[in-house]
Amino acid sequence: MNRRLLALAGGVGGARLAHGLSSVCVPDQLSIVVNTGDDFEHLGLSICPDLDTVFYTLSGLADRARGWGRAEESWHFMDTLRSLGGEDWFNLGDRDLALHVLRSVHLRAGGTLEQFTARLGERMGIDCIIAPMSNDRVSTRIHTDQGELAFQDYFVRLRCEPPVRAIDYAGADRAQPSDRLIAALADPTLGAVVLCPSNPWLSIAPILALPAVAAWFDAPQRRVPVVAVSPIVGGAALKGPAAKIMVELGFAASVLGLSDYYGARVDGWVIDELDRQHAAALRDRGKSVMVSQTVMRTDEDRADLARTVIDFAERVQVRS
Ligand code: GDP
Ligand code: CA
Repeated sequence: MNRRLLALAGGVGGARLAHGLSSVCVPDQLSIVVNTGDDFEHLGLSICPDLDTVFYTLSGLADRARGWGRAEESWHFMDTLRSLGGEDWFNLGDRDLALHVLRSVHLRAGGTLEQFTARLGERMGIDCIIAPMSNDRVSTRIHTDQGELAFQDYFVRLRCEPPVRAIDYAGADRAQPSDRLIAALADPTLGAVVLCPSNPWLSIAPILALPAVAAWFDAPQRRVPVVAVSPIVGGAALKGPAAKIMVELGFAASVLGLSDYYGARVDGWVIDELDRQHAAALRDRGKSVMVSQTVMRTDEDRADLARTVIDFAERVQVRS
């Protein structure tokens, strides 16, 4: 594809495809816009889990086995914090800590998250654009049987156990997209928007909750196709609570449930070979469908899926 691509991503699943896209795209062809609904303040630090996962994954520094944070990490800070009676439910590795400290200093001095993110990309030698969805604070809030929970409380402290009744994105209604997200959506050479295989409710929905982004997706005259790679494989999530949340919110835990949720906002679905039986039903709903191997274990898998997505996106038509 000669045209530009905008990829929307959360953490691990999204970062894997973003990495594949970055390896097959020419540098200024790709913008990766990342969820900030999980961001929070902890121990006086500004933590952006999904942005950090994207950076560590694209730069090859991510810990592949653990699934978050940096490889070759050490934990002296956490051990010391614990011995002094500090809050230790959120793990911060020694190497990882440097990033949180630098970002916190930058934000406290009045800089924006988008500026910091752009500088970090240069510093880490990443040549595509990586940007937060917004510089304004948007906080994913989980309404559960145990009351309303802040995202990290639900996700890390309570390990996603409380049944979810509803989710909202506090602040999204007033938040502006980041400059790079606005520019990507307005770019006349934009060829497709790719929804990476990230949790729809926790990673993609906060981005779509920005009014300017929602308006772009829902515009009757939209001509740029939206292609989604399913984060549900064989009716299950590879990691995390996506399938559990789907069921708790009343959707089927399948690619059809995902399509019910996204509706007309997605024009083309890339689904796993394990979900091939749903292709016909998706086509009946007017969707373009590509069946592929979508589980990204190796760098080769990531690049292969990225090429599949790009080829597919060139053929998908927007249907209203
Ligand atoms: P988080 O922010 O780290 O929780 O991660 P995301 O929201 O980006 O991703 C969670 C979703 O990614 C889960 O539904 C997983 O099933 C999905 N996922 C993770 N790795 C892969 C993969 O290799 N292929 C596909 N298709 N989905 C994946
Ligand atoms: Ca996340």
